[in-house]
Amino acid sequence: MYRTHTCGELRMEHASSEVTLAGWVQKTRELGGMIFVDLRDRYGITQLVFNKDQDADLCDKAKALGREFVIQVKGEVMERTAKNDKMATGNVELIASEMKVLSASKTPPFTIENETDGGEDIRMKYRFLDLRRPAVQENIMLRHRIAQESRSFLNKSGFLEIETPFLIRSTPEGARDFVVPSRMNEGQFYALPQSPQTFKQLLMVAGYDRYYQITRCFRDEDLRADRQPEFTQIDCEIAFVEQEDVLNMFEGLAKHIMKYVHNIDVAEVPRITFAEAMRLYGSDKPDIRFGMTFTELNDVAQNKGFKVFDDAELVVGICAEGCATYTRKQLDALTDFVKRPQIGAKGLVYVKCNEDGTFKSSVDKFFDQEKLKAWADKMGAKAGDLLLVISGVKEKARKQMNELRLEMGNQLGLRKKDDFKFLWVLDFPLLEWAEEEERWVARHHPFTSPKAEDFDKMDTDPGAVRANAYDMVLNGTELGGGSVRIHDRGLQERVFELLGMSKEEAVEKFGFLMGAFEFGAPPHAGLAFGFDRMCALLGGADAIRDFIAFPKNNSGRDVMIDAPSKIDEVQYEELCIRAAPKVEA
Ligand code: ASP
Repeated sequence: MYRTHTCGELRMEHASSEVTLAGWVQKTRELGGMIFVDLRDRYGITQLVFNKDQDADLCDKAKALGREFVIQVKGEVMERTAKNDKMATGNVELIASEMKVLSASKTPPFTIENETDGGEDIRMKYRFLDLRRPAVQENIMLRHRIAQESRSFLNKSGFLEIETPFLIRSTPEGARDFVVPSRMNEGQFYALPQSPQTFKQLLMVAGYDRYYQITRCFRDEDLRADRQPEFTQIDCEIAFVEQEDVLNMFEGLAKHIMKYVHNIDVAEVPRITFAEAMRLYGSDKPDIRFGMTFTELNDVAQNKGFKVFDDAELVVGICAEGCATYTRKQLDALTDFVKRPQIGAKGLVYVKCNEDGTFKSSVDKFFDQEKLKAWADKMGAKAGDLLLVISGVKEKARKQMNELRLEMGNQLGLRKKDDFKFLWVLDFPLLEWAEEEERWVARHHPFTSPKAEDFDKMDTDPGAVRANAYDMVLNGTELGGGSVRIHDRGLQERVFELLGMSKEEAVEKFGFLMGAFEFGAPPHAGLAFGFDRMCALLGGADAIRDFIAFPKNNSGRDVMIDAPSKIDEVQYEELCIRAAPKVEA
């Protein structure tokens, strides 16, 4: 037996017992006639004591231990004289009587501690060492718990876990596919799935009315911050349901996870339509941990001689409670914030609602006290508050105000990581205009059903057609999304047509699915959660990378195994793809 206990296990009740531990040497220090060693494994740290008076040879061996040596040590558990209440095992120590080095270690390139001295690059190169750090181990263990609790809930709810293939057909729609050349089929390629969407729908046609899979998806996108080319979804589909059933089921899943992972009881998840979300928050994923919702001010702010407002499609404001004390410098900083190229506002108007009932604004020239009071009244502001106003083209002004609202939320400490606020966003538009391609694209995906009451708009005003599509949002981040699907060939053909796909193209790409719809397709709907993001949010972190054992870096590289990499000339030949380009790596 390598060990009788883990390094996180020993307590006072173990005092006087003989135990064997195994683990990694975190640090050694000499004090008087003693050598102290902190021994670590994923369960915790235990202090070992080697006493010169008892065994000088053993003590010399202990002195020679380097960081990250793997050792096995036997000894008696003793109550500590100097207890450490910061450690779970801090009441006891192990008085070593035998010790064996199981594996020596080179000096690690960075410290294996929560606060490490290693930068991102070196930690990723030595990810196996980074993964040893307790903070990272916590993340990976949290991920495991969330996966297990999700399975447990879905299994109890009658879902079947079914795998779908990774080698499929390329049907780029949305992101780019990763492709894999087929050796046995010259000149042909598989694609890795961007999601199991069409397969899970086929499973519904096949009668497996509750399906889930915690599975990898692959999207060859330009990597924006914190995106991974391969990522994990909790992917689900249900047959014989309406939108309401799906919302209830997955709200149940979210509640279950929060209860069993965090011991938090989530109340009923509020709902908002996409249109309302845009009007009140300027975002389709509002952070509702705080208020500061938008007020549209066109009727009180326009036609008073201020050209900037008069020319604007939208004049929109937020009220920052208690911020009338903001200094010139703070207000200038906010103006600079919204004027940054990433946000792109032309300027920012402010109104201070002074404690004495007067108003001080950046547009006093155009608006007298009475007029400013009308703004304040409309926004429900009180003495001491600060009004911040942006104007311009509706969609842009809303986006800019969304950024400012979130910034104010940050500045005022209203976005706490341990406050979890879920939200359903419903009734997304079916389509979205793609500027470059000059055509409509599916906002969710082409299998999403339009709302029956909007069918007639499909010919006249496609942009106004709403879909039976929904997103679950947590703290301003999209946690998951899905839709009620089309299960009728005619309607599916109609949507492909709206997306500018010819009949032939639609049949070539999705004939298998439309064909299946002709063999008894039940009504069905589903959703997928972004599992990596869920782990990061529940772990109170921003970076999903910290919750993936072996993530890729910002250029899509695994720097540890150095992938992607060149392949051998013979592989090019076997795969019938043109010879390797003659470039130096
Ligand atoms: N397959 C969709 C996605 O990956 C989710 C769904 O509609 O179920 O976003």
